[in-house]
Amino acid sequence: MGRILWVVDAAVATGYPVVLVDGYLTRGFETDYDPHVVVTHHTGGPTDGGDMPSLGICVNGRVDLDGPLANYCVGRSGTIYVVATGKANNAGVGHWTVGDKTYDSNYDTVGIEPENNGSQPWPVFQVDSCQRLEAEILRRLGEPAANLCGHKEWADPDGRKVDPHTINMTTRRAAVAALLEGSTLTPEQDARMASLADYLIAEGMTNIEVGRAVKWYDEQRKVLGIPDAAPPGLAKKVATGITGAKGDPGEKGDPGPVSTKPGPKGDPGEKGDPGPSPTGIVGPIDFEYPA
Ligand SMILES: [Zn+2]
Repeated sequence: MGRILWVVDAAVATGYPVVLVDGYLTRGFETDYDPHVVVTHHTGGPTDGGDMPSLGICVNGRVDLDGPLANYCVGRSGTIYVVATGKANNAGVGHWTVGDKTYDSNYDTVGIEPENNGSQPWPVFQVDSCQRLEAEILRRLGEPAANLCGHKEWADPDGRKVDPHTINMTTRRAAVAALLEGSTLTPEQDARMASLADYLIAEGMTNIEVGRAVKWYDEQRKVLGIPDAAPPGLAKKVATGITGAKGDPGEKGDPGPVSTKPGPKGDPGEKGDPGPSPTGIVGPIDFEYPA
């Protein structure tokens, strides 16, 4: 199959703000990448630090594991960060069985890493964004909601992973199945979506920095031809939540050398400090999310 070139379409179709992380189009291994399963995680990142403080580590990897560690990240605001079109070292050792098919490699997966410290409550917009993203990915994979699993379901041996914490994946699959039932877009909107990638490139919007995210969000809604695709209030919250400073995210400490071993079966783990934000990525978005 190769790269999943609809990564942006799937993200935008959720109606949530989308940030394209510089280099997303060529990030991740292309050869033999043939995903059929969506694996959902939590980052296990910092309690605070803005919308998506673990973005750097999800893009660059850890001392013991090459990035990318996810295809998508989802911030506390519900903002979707598009990280990679190729295989990401997200799920590690494990498997997921659907019918008579068993999938057991990162090459079989699309990984989503929502920001969460591993115990804090999930913001409602973030959960909604995640499950809409899961549905839009599955729609493009041509797979049913059964092909969605949590990392805690994938990981071997049982109990090796707990993410995403406190989320009942059976309930989650039911919600995603309902989203898959019908397109959320009209045929006209679908047509506009088909040309969205060209539109983005023409507008030079392949790397959205803080401050431009609001404009980007407005552009998405314009392309979709709908006044506000996000849940009520999200647009304003995002607009007022972005501080404009595209400054240093402020992570401390040397992330150490990144392994050069490609290793098809990595595992991001859920612990550790995020590394420095890579060049070209937005800084933290100071977002007040609902309790
Ligand atoms: Zn995980």
